[in-house]
Parts: sequence; structure tokens; C-alpha cells
Amino acid sequence: MTNTLHFVDTAQAYPEKREAAARAKDFGEIYARFQPKQAQTQASRCSQCGIPYCQVHCPLQNNIPDWLMLTAEGRLEEAYAISSATNTFPEICGRICPQDRLCEGNCVIEKDFGAVTIGSVEKYITETAWDNGWVRPIKPRTEHTQSVGIIGAGPAGLAAADVLRRKGVQVHIYDRYTQMGGLLMYGIPNFKLDKSVVSRRNTWLLESGVAFYPETNVDAPLFASLQQKHDALLIATGVYKARALQTVGSGLQGIIPALEYLVHKEQHVLQGKNVVVVGGGDTAMDCVRTAIRQGAASVTCLYRRDKANMPGSLREVHHAEEEGVVFKWLSSPLAFLGNTAVEGVKVQQMQLGQPDNLGRQQPEVVQDATYILQADAVILALGFEPEDMPHLFGVSGLNVTESGTLAVDETYQTSLSNVYAAGDIVRGASLVVWAIKEGREAAAAMIKQMGL
Ligand code: SF4
Ligand code: SF4
Repeated sequence: MTNTLHFVDTAQAYPEKREAAARAKDFGEIYARFQPKQAQTQASRCSQCGIPYCQVHCPLQNNIPDWLMLTAEGRLEEAYAISSATNTFPEICGRICPQDRLCEGNCVIEKDFGAVTIGSVEKYITETAWDNGWVRPIKPRTEHTQSVGIIGAGPAGLAAADVLRRKGVQVHIYDRYTQMGGLLMYGIPNFKLDKSVVSRRNTWLLESGVAFYPETNVDAPLFASLQQKHDALLIATGVYKARALQTVGSGLQGIIPALEYLVHKEQHVLQGKNVVVVGGGDTAMDCVRTAIRQGAASVTCLYRRDKANMPGSLREVHHAEEEGVVFKWLSSPLAFLGNTAVEGVKVQQMQLGQPDNLGRQQPEVVQDATYILQADAVILALGFEPEDMPHLFGVSGLNVTESGTLAVDETYQTSLSNVYAAGDIVRGASLVVWAIKEGREAAAAMIKQMGL
């Protein structure tokens, strides 16, 4: 019997998921890890496609069919070697990638049999690697004198650090926070990504020779001295500034930007409150599910398009619905009501109109169709934009794009010589997996430029 093509006789299965009622009471991760036998049989469902669309639609172009086959054959150390060759954080992507929009959503057996559960297998392989000591600190064959300064310890910066250290480049990371990880550490809730998973990788990077400078705010003089000190700089600061909503009452107390809420949730006690979250992306889903765990009396999510057209992962919506979140589709806030603190939201009913030039149906107002929702707190999750552009760090000469992100060429080089940029500061707010890809590619470009 072969070790693959078992999608016909083996049903799709995900690892055990905790009951909604229990998991809504704490911040523990909601999925367990696959049991060894289960991982093997799920991996064996892969049909080893000639053109693996899973791989095509993975931003990292992970060699998915190969590591699935090796898992099905019980050759996990080799599976880890292949999976970690293209991904700095496979156990993190296995947890937080919206697989239904990427690898699994494009698996050829998805339609008739249910996709191979790629993300869960990826997590399983890497957790097994950690258990068995296969994830070792990087020991480059040759240590070079060249150094790169990385500004920003989020996924793009850390992925670049991985690639640079493997080549023997000296890596120095500067970040305004106390710990490395950026959004992985401070933004993504524990029920999706336990912080011990991020800390473990941070330790691995430090043991791999990365120097980290916490609580470092880069200003113009420091930027200039870093340019002197290092052979190249990588700007990977991400985008943190919340997109604002200018509407009646938007300055009332109790209206909180999403990231402020997620990073400082202890300061926003929502127990017993009626919470309204505005937005339909993954950050909005993180907020609604965090509010549930804080014991909110009700959590309602407003999104101006319908469920089929929301930007976030439908799997996350499903988790949120299971946990008690109410979704109001085709709904947009018209005004926030209250004297000093928010007490309600006047909601405008929307409908979908003509598609725009990207083919996306535009929401239109339904005349005379409004309603009021009671709200003691409102969380705005409308996306992020770059801060302080075009004068990032007070440095002149850094070109920006029309959308306000840093302009780079095809080698990730900015308009300043030997200054590169990657991740959300270039792409705009996006998925962690795209930041990892860009960080890795920018590092490869820097290595080439340094002639190593
Ligand atoms: Fe899928 Fe993300 Fe892993 Fe790629 S990195 S295989 S998209 S889970
Ligand atoms: Fe296997 Fe699905 Fe990828 Fe095909 S698309 S190689 S079946 S995981």
C-alpha cells in the first residue's frame, strides 16, 4: 500500500479542538497537536499533484507535497529539514496562516474530499522537531565581518535575521519593545499563538548569534550612526497606526483602536459590557474573540460587506460564531452615540453594488435603513497604515509610494544606498507569512549585494 493518495479512503480531520464554551473562558490555544498516527494518516491523503496548487498559493512556496510524503512515511526529521528550508517559523505559520485562503484553500482535493490539513501537519512536524532537538542554533560555516542592522523585530526582520545568520553575516536587531516578535508577541492573541512559541524562537535566534537591542527608538542621529556601523540596514518596522474613522461621535470615550486593545487588553476591562467591533479582517476576529474571553456581555461585529466578501479567514469567523459572537453583515457605523462615553452605535444598513476595477462589489447605502445597537465599548479594526511617512525616523531621502508605504526596487532596496525595507512597511498591512517571505528575500538580496 502506498503512503499517499489516501484522500479517497481517509476523511479529512483536524487536530482536536477544544469545546467553544470551555475555550471562551481562557486564552489557551484552541487546537491540540496531531497525534503521531493521525498526522501520518492525514499527510497520506495528499495526491502528490504534478502541479501542486497548495505550493503555488503558499507565499513561501513551501515544498508541501514532499514534506507531506515524508510525514506519511514517518520520516519526520527529513520533513522538518525540507519545511524549515523555506520557512523561518513553520510552527507559527501552521498556527496562524489563513490556510483556507492559501495552501489548503487551493488544494486540489478540497472541493470533493476536503483539503489536506497542511497547516496542522506543518505545525506537527515542527513541534516534533523541537521535542527531538532537531531545531538547533544556527552555526554558519564561515563567520563574516559584514554586519546588517535590522530595525524592527517583527516577522520580516526576524526572518531576514535567520537567512543572514545562516550565511555568517553579523546581525543586530533594534526594536522599540522589550522582546522580539513584533505582532507575533504583542498583537496576535494567545488562543491563536501562545507566546511561549514565540519566545522559544527568540531564544533560538539569540543562541544563533543575533544581537538584540530592546527599547530602542530609532531617530535621525541613531539611524545615521547605524548606517555608519553596518554594511546594510533593513527597515522592517511594520505598520502600527490605526486607520481612523471620522464620523459623528468618534472621539467618545470607550472607542478603542484594535491594536491598542490587543496589546493592552488588561487596561480595557470589558467584562459585562456590550462590545461592538467594527471591521471584517483577521484583526477584527482577534478582537471579537478576545472580548468574549474577557467576559463581555455581548460581542457584535459590524462589517460593511457580506460574509462571502469579508477579507478575514472564514475559519476564524466560524470559531468566533461558535464562541458566541454575533455578526451583522452589510452594516456600517453611521454615528457613535453618547455624551462623554459611548453608549450606542447608529448602524447604516448597506447593500452590495457594482464591482470596482478589481472585481470587488462595492458597499452602497440602503436609504432610510438604520438601527441602533447598544454599546459600552467599540473597537475599531479598520486596518493599519504606516506611521510618520514620509519622514520615517526623521530621515530625509526615503521615497514613499502613493499609498504611503516605503518605496523599494525589486531587490528591496530603498532610495537610500544600502538601506533595504521589507514586510508591512513596504506591502501595507498584510499576513505574517508575506512578511516572512519578504524578510527572507531582502536578506538574500543583501547577501548578494555584499558579495558573500
Ligand atoms: Fe500554508 Fe502558511 Fe504553511 Fe504556506 S506557510 S504551507 S500558506 S500554513
Ligand atoms: Fe497534496 Fe493538495 Fe498539494 Fe495536491 S494540492 S500536492 S493533494 S496538498
